[in-house]
Amino acid sequence: MTDVDLLIAPRWIVPVVPRSVVLEAYAVAVLDGRIVAVLPLEEAQVRFVPRQRIVLAEHVLIPGLINLHTHAAMALMRGVADDLPLMRWLNERIWPAETASMSESFVHEGTLLACAEMIAGGTTCFSDMYFFPKAAATAVEQSGIRACLGLTILDFPTPYASDADDYLTKGLAARDALREVQRITTCLAPHAPYTISDRTFEKVILYADQLSLNVHIHLHETQEEIAQSEAQHGVRPMQRMLRLGLLGPNTIAAHGVHLTRHEIELLAERGCHIAHCPSSNLKLGSGIAPVAELLARGVSVGLGTDGAASNNRLDMFGEMRLAALLAKGASGNAEVMPAWQALECATVNAARALGLDDQIGSIEAGKCADLVAVDLSALETQPCYDVVSHLVYAAGRDQVTHVWVEGEALLSARQLTMLDRTELLERTRTWQKRLRTLH
Ligand SMILES: [Zn+2]
Repeated sequence: MTDVDLLIAPRWIVPVVPRSVVLEAYAVAVLDGRIVAVLPLEEAQVRFVPRQRIVLAEHVLIPGLINLHTHAAMALMRGVADDLPLMRWLNERIWPAETASMSESFVHEGTLLACAEMIAGGTTCFSDMYFFPKAAATAVEQSGIRACLGLTILDFPTPYASDADDYLTKGLAARDALREVQRITTCLAPHAPYTISDRTFEKVILYADQLSLNVHIHLHETQEEIAQSEAQHGVRPMQRMLRLGLLGPNTIAAHGVHLTRHEIELLAERGCHIAHCPSSNLKLGSGIAPVAELLARGVSVGLGTDGAASNNRLDMFGEMRLAALLAKGASGNAEVMPAWQALECATVNAARALGLDDQIGSIEAGKCADLVAVDLSALETQPCYDVVSHLVYAAGRDQVTHVWVEGEALLSARQLTMLDRTELLERTRTWQKRLRTLH
């Protein structure tokens, strides 16, 4: 008999790795934040003495969902500017609002709000791109979630930094300060080809190579971005990045909506990762990413919500369902992106993109106990012939009941354990008053 911290006994476990497997009457044993075994419940009861035992009779246990592209603090700008195309949305509403309100406390409190929403909805890790990364990190630590914080780089000033060098200096200082924080990693996040000069890209490449950092960037999001690049640089953005030496297995390209067959092949060849954000792409009228072709060519696709200002939910269940439906509708092929593959995109594929697939993304012995329990007893998810089908096509984030990161409960019986809901609501109301005066 071995002592463990936690034994979770759900009705089903979908470990994601191996693919398409559903385990029934199994248990997960957790010690020091790690999964020590995934085994039949009967065997677990003989082998382990848990300090805490959680029986979830009507639930499925899945790996924590990973939001591969978001701007967490923008949760405070949810609904501040709707029904506009990307460039007008950015130029007329978002960038002016950020110029007027951006500060460390905005990022800290906006990120807290986003973390609360994500945790309650079954997300245990997010890949962020925003300003004041140390303020975001404080919120991440308070909430207990895991994050890869993108160190944003732009060529124009914001209240965070004055020019590209200033962004880089501040970003790298934040990276140094956060190196020992267990649940936080960092990467470089040059915002997009239309906001970054060749000279800045060259610096990004230099630091990414020297420090072995991933590069998280918006890419081929709109037709306008591509036309602008052709006019200014004579080539499409991807071609320009290729010329500069920026496409590789450390590239996480958000969106990839407008891609030629050659560009899809190039993404596959170079081992780049796509963060597919179907809701944001639809809402901003950007288009529909060619996910069927990307998957067919072997490009690794993760899912993201994008920021709450262009979605307006940080809901990975919603993104899984929409991604699966859109892939079928856009390709005219109902066999494209089956439910298990949508779940892979939201878990193990995203973990691979972040270079964390040895730690998270599946329920396997040795990995971190980043776990989510989903209650399938509701009328909306009965009867249940196929739990993976239900996770993608029928269940919603409101059916998430328990969330653990490294074995630590962040959501228990639908209640946030680390964050005070009342306090969050109060702070959010204060920000709402401040941002409303900008209109
Ligand atoms: Zn974005």
